Amino acid sequence: MNHFQDFASRRAWMVENQIVGRGISAPLVVSAMSRVPREKFVGSDLVDSAYDDGPLPIGHGQTISQPYIVALMAEALDLTGGDVALDIGTGSGYAAAVLASIAARVYSIERIPELAESAAQVLADEGYGNVVVRCGDGTLGWPEQAPFDGICVAAGAPVVPEALRQQLRVGGHLVIPVGSAHTIQSLRRITRLSETEFRTTTLCDVRFVPLLGEQGWS
Ligand code: SAH
Repeated sequence: MNHFQDFASRRAWMVENQIVGRGISAPLVVSAMSRVPREKFVGSDLVDSAYDDGPLPIGHGQTISQPYIVALMAEALDLTGGDVALDIGTGSGYAAAVLASIAARVYSIERIPELAESAAQVLADEGYGNVVVRCGDGTLGWPEQAPFDGICVAAGAPVVPEALRQQLRVGGHLVIPVGSAHTIQSLRRITRLSETEFRTTTLCDVRFVPLLGEQGWS
């Protein structure tokens, strides 16, 4: 088997066992997870672990999320083909690529310049022309591009940043890990019901790196 077929079959195995097997059923999400080559978003020393059932280090003390968590968050966002999404914590760019395979456009913010740069490069090399990456503090959102149909936050916040709630379109969802501890959070889905009303549901317990910034951890 050549390398490409090998990764394709590992990806198919991952989707069957870790994604569909655990209850993810939204066709757009399953299809995106089946297409995005996770091996391109990890370092060359970790390509053999690219389809493992967990997070992996990407340098600078950060991680690429577990595939199942990326799929769970994408499903909770409930995006469709014409939607515009905001992704906070670009990291490797993997989750941005998954969202870009579902939505029309993705704006992604990363606070570490080296990660923002390498993610932007991989996304461009892999043909994700509908993702824009910028380096900055994602807790403030991206007001120039708001409102968003979905906002995905890949780092744990002490509280839900008000800026992100305000940049959500009515009917849109914000998916974010929230918790008072640095290490364990509860994954919340906040739906904007009207200009002033929001509904929060809790999805599960998760472990993310801390969201550092003006409306996150200091
Ligand atoms: N979605 C990423 C996961 C990366 S881990 C992936 O698929 O690889 C979370 C990332 O959030 C880290 O890279 C971290 O540097 C970044 N981060 C933390 N606080 C942030 C903030 N305020 N704004 C933007 N990025 C932030």
